[in-house]
Amino acid sequence: MGKKKYEKYYSLAGKASYENWNAVKRSTICGCYYCQAIYSPSEITDEDWIQDAHGRTVLCPRCGIDAVIGDTSGIPIRKDVLEEIHENKFG
Ligand SMILES: [Zn+2]
Repeated sequence: MGKKKYEKYYSLAGKASYENWNAVKRSTICGCYYCQAIYSPSEITDEDWIQDAHGRTVLCPRCGIDAVIGDTSGIPIRKDVLEEIHENKFG
């Protein structure tokens, strides 16, 4: 793919998608870097999580993968950003 504009977010995205229930629920907008959907945290139901060592990790309500990040992480929730993170993690 193209050049790496958002490399600085790669490791942050990994952290922000783990044990992230509270952070995502506090966000205004969130997105999934697996299916690259962008949606409101209100779409995440009380069943969309798994328990990890120190808290709940959100599972994407669209694809079921634990790759959801919210804007409170500091990562801009935009299609081009999610696409590039996807390419880094799953490409
Ligand atoms: Zn997804």
